[in-house]
Amino acid sequence: MPLYSYHCTACGQEFELLVRGDDSPACPHCHSAALERLPGAAALPGKTRAAIASARRQAAREGHFSHYSKAEKAKL
Ligand SMILES: [Zn+2]
Repeated sequence: MPLYSYHCTACGQEFELLVRGDDSPACPHCHSAALERLPGAAALPGKTRAAIASARRQAAREGHFSHYSKAEKAKL
């Protein structure tokens, strides 16, 4: 069963659904069928944050934050 990412145009939620055959998926939040399928694999918010944090650490190591203020650098 393919796992698809959807955006509900009725309530604005994004979620993943397993879609079987010609089932028409419905929003788990508001049960609307007005869904847009999002391209590609879903980027989970947690994974995205981890990836961004990792990219920031690497950029900091390489000195890409030289334009940041001292207060900003202290947070890195
Ligand atoms: Zn919805």
